[in-house]
Amino acid sequence: MEVMPRHRLIAALWLLVFVLPAVAQKPGKPIRPGFNLFSKQQDVQLGQEAAAEIRKQIQVVENRELQDYIQRIGKRLAAQPEADEFPYTFEMVNDRAINAFALPGGPTFMNTGLLIHADNEAQVAGVVAHEIAHVALRHGTNQVSKANFLQLPAIIAGIATGSQLWAGLAQLGSQTLLLKYSRTAETQADILGARMMAKAGYNPIEAARFFEKLESEGGSRAPQFLSSHPNPGNRVKSIEAEVRVMPSMPYNTAEGDFARMKRLAQQLPEPKGAQQQQQQQGQAAPAPGVSAPPAAVRTPREIPNPSSRFRSLSGTGWVLNHPDNWQVLGDRSQGSITIAPQEGVVENGLACGVIVSTWQAPNPRANLRTMTRDLIADLRRTNPDLNVGRDQRRTRLDGQEALVTEMRTASPLGGQELVQLVTVQRDRGLFYMVLVSPQSEYARFRPAFEQTLLSVRFSN
Ligand SMILES: [Zn+2]
Repeated sequence: MEVMPRHRLIAALWLLVFVLPAVAQKPGKPIRPGFNLFSKQQDVQLGQEAAAEIRKQIQVVENRELQDYIQRIGKRLAAQPEADEFPYTFEMVNDRAINAFALPGGPTFMNTGLLIHADNEAQVAGVVAHEIAHVALRHGTNQVSKANFLQLPAIIAGIATGSQLWAGLAQLGSQTLLLKYSRTAETQADILGARMMAKAGYNPIEAARFFEKLESEGGSRAPQFLSSHPNPGNRVKSIEAEVRVMPSMPYNTAEGDFARMKRLAQQLPEPKGAQQQQQQQGQAAPAPGVSAPPAAVRTPREIPNPSSRFRSLSGTGWVLNHPDNWQVLGDRSQGSITIAPQEGVVENGLACGVIVSTWQAPNPRANLRTMTRDLIADLRRTNPDLNVGRDQRRTRLDGQEALVTEMRTASPLGGQELVQLVTVQRDRGLFYMVLVSPQSEYARFRPAFEQTLLSVRFSN
């Protein structure tokens, strides 16, 4: 074996340490889902609940050929590893508005207007691949999680609404968040979609061309698609850059006779009904409002003192003790759990308790302070009411360096709520705990919080 000359070795090491982290932000890099309080299974459950409601308000095309066509395109794309094996379904909707949308966990809908507007099958596939990418990257539930990280644990645990996640989101007023994406999410979906397209045999540049075409038709009659999928800028450039790092492959896929399918879509009778008319007039979010079931009215009761007896709880990679009169909400094997006194979980909020969760840092090489700052920025972006204190306190959790950040927000019981975020670096991101209590009653819960923090042990 040839030994690498010393200067080449140094150059290689230099490349590894300094250049690669920067390269990791460039084309070809893996894209991972962000912060999320839902499990993947809950994405699926939520999407199916939402789809059942939405199907009542749209007109699914009753033409076998058209449905088969969109399903073949969808299945070919969903079979690519980037789609991450969610139970995808594809339906064509009789609606001339230029739009498509996908719900968490896989239900994907495309309007006839989009098919009619496309120039070829690859452009249709480009939109479908983009939608699949949003599902695979879990952008919808990521947004909802960020916007409601204090409220969601109760909803996910079914405290407020039985097991109805979609109705729970209605209570939080967060249903439309599922389908309104950030510009960062748009760039990610473009890139992941381009990879899926290429592997499925479609030219990804066609997706870029189609999005460009939609942009050029902006103004007051902007295609509806753009209101939920905002232009991140340089769309074409970033897709082109991605294509340049892909192995070259033939782009010759055709799942059907595109021209004929387009004609079939054009010949469908105009959809009837108020919903479609509204959509044609450029109404935003296709997510229709669903009236939530009347919430069980709970008058806030005084939160009892934490028990002095503690109970052990183990999650993925950690163990801790908590007061034995607090209950555990959520699935321990999944992202996030809440440990709280029953009276601390009130309608739409957590008034008292502890959230335990993990967060994947966008830059796994960053230090604790930077990661914590990024996590807080992430939470603040969608929780503008969260006031973050200036001081951070250092502490240790199971011997590891930890940071305590104090924040304040409105308590669901009225008055101020103290929210303490404790972060520790673990596996490419953060392990964190959020300690929540009414500001005025902090002294009463402090010993229980401290004992819980002291009891944390990490495994592996
Ligand atoms: Zn999008």
